[in-house]
Parts: sequence; structure tokens; C-alpha cells
Amino acid sequence: MAVPFKMDLTGKVAAVTGGGGVLGSYFAKALAECGAKVAVMDLMQEAADKVAAEINAAGGTAIGVAANVLDKEALEAAREIVIKELGTVDILVNNAGGNNPKGTTDDEFYNAEAVKNNPDMKTFFDLDPKGVSFVFDLNFLGTLLPSQVFAQDMIGKKGANIINISSMNAYTPLTKIPAYSGAKAAISNFTQWCATYFAKAGIRVNAIAPGFLVTKQNEKLLFNEDGTPSARAGKILNSTPMERFGEPEELVGGLLYLASEEAASFVTGVVIPIDGGFSSYSGV
Ligand code: NAD
Repeated sequence: MAVPFKMDLTGKVAAVTGGGGVLGSYFAKALAECGAKVAVMDLMQEAADKVAAEINAAGGTAIGVAANVLDKEALEAAREIVIKELGTVDILVNNAGGNNPKGTTDDEFYNAEAVKNNPDMKTFFDLDPKGVSFVFDLNFLGTLLPSQVFAQDMIGKKGANIINISSMNAYTPLTKIPAYSGAKAAISNFTQWCATYFAKAGIRVNAIAPGFLVTKQNEKLLFNEDGTPSARAGKILNSTPMERFGEPEELVGGLLYLASEEAASFVTGVVIPIDGGFSSYSGV
């Protein structure tokens, strides 16, 4: 991929969780393009291997490693593989995460009349605690556990840093997705906690908060069959001062800036919104 600017990450080892996914693959490729050796980690070995193979084919150095971010033993095993193949990790991108219908309501606002007319509608009162835990764990614990496992090798290592992936709903929750909103708010909060905790140990901890992007997963929710924006997409665009969706490539500059010791040596505990102004706009 073409990176927006070149950071010299030669000699660095980066690990990207959920690296087989849409954004993770962009992050892994951008870090490799700047010279880092990359461990593409994912729950799905095949997805991780595919991204690693693409990086190697483009002249970079990468390995695919299967690792569930919710399984500490699996993460420890992955760490052993990464150390053996590439060396200890300098840059950890905690990218694995996402929402799940199990943590989502059907309605945006509670409306007793609508519930009476549609008893099958899933409201706040029907949310399954297991679904809420699933989403909360995947995002929050799925950031905490890899940090525990990989930060041990970062202590005192010059330039070591962790980059978490927050979201717009960490600032103000989005309707329908209380679990995902709460979990991403927890990630922004945890980013600040970790930044403070590791400040004297030389590890910087920051995050990016992507705004609304069009990816394969949400394309059908955001656009009608004729290519016009759906009602939800219309609301998003009205709330985004730049009045457009972002592209995954547009996250890369922020990621590389935070990853680079030269550029961001005094930057820790920040969550950078990359959102076309969404988080700044009150709608008025
Ligand atoms: P994606 O679904 O394309 O990728 C997620 C990857 O994580 C997948 O490859 C999946 O196999 C992997 N994964 C899932 N569970 C895992 C587990 N337990 N252990 C290890 N890997 C696991 O999602 P994406 O859109 O690329 O999102 C990546 C990150 O960006 C997520 O944290 C998401 O919340 C965040 N984010 C995305 C957007 C967006 O618009 N796509 C916006 C804001 C934030």
C-alpha cells in the first residue's frame, strides 16, 4: 500500500491484533511499508496468513499468528512465536474488536406504543447479559490482555508503544449499541490509565478513534441498492462537518505518527479522532 509519509521503523517489531480484518490489514501493511517486521495476529489463522503473505510479496517481512485476544495462554504462546521469528515487540496495535447483534437493540428510542405493536422488537429490556459481555470483553479485555502479554517485553525498550482503537461512540454513545459504546469508552479511558501507568517505564500508550468509514461489513447498512445513502447514513453525513465517509487509508497517517518515536516521543494518553469533524460537532 502507499503510505502517506514514510516513518523509519526499520529494526522495529510490530504486532497487530485482528490483523486479518479490514482495518487491521491496512495497519499491518502500513507498518511493514515503513520497515517494521510485522506479526499479523488474528483469531483466524487463514486471515492472518493471507495478510502476512501479501506483505511478504510486497517486499516486507511478516508472519501470520493465530491468537484469540481473550485467551491469555494463547497470547503467551503467540508471544513465544513472535519472539522466535521476529524478536520482541516494540509496537502493539490492539485492533481486534467490533460490535455484535447480541449487544444491540432494534429501537433507537423507547416507545411503548411501538413495542405493543411489535412484541418481537428487541428493546433495552431484552438485551442478553451474555451478548453484552461478549461485546464488552472482545473490545475491552481484548485490549487489556494483549497489553499485559506484550508490554512485559516493552519495559525500558526505547520507542516502545501501544496503540488502541477506540471509536466515535466512546465520546457520545450511538443509539442501539450500548455494549459497543460502553466498551469503546472503556478503551479510551484505559488508554489514559495505561499511559500514566507505563509513563516511567518508557512505554507510550495512545489510541485513534476512527469516524465513520465504509467497509464491506457496513456497506449494505449505509447505502441503498441504487447507491443513495440509507436513512442512518444520512444522519451520519449530517453529523459529519466534512459530509462524507472516511476511507481506511485515512487512518494510517495517525497510526504512523503515534507509532513513531521521532514524531511522537512526548505524546502519551491521547485519543486522536480521525472523523471528518464528527466528534466536534453538536449538530447546531
Ligand atoms: P473486522 O471485523 O474487519 O476485523 C476484526 C478482526 O478481528 C477480524 O479479522 C477477526 O477475525 C478478528 N477477531 C475477532 N475476534 C477476535 C479475537 N477474539 N481474537 C483475535 N482476533 C479476533 O473489523 P474492522 O472494521 O477492521 O475493525 C477493526 C477495529 O476498528 C475494531 O476494534 C473496531 O471496533 C474498530 N473500528 C472500526 C470502525 C469501522 O468503521 N470499521 C470504526 C471505528 C472503530
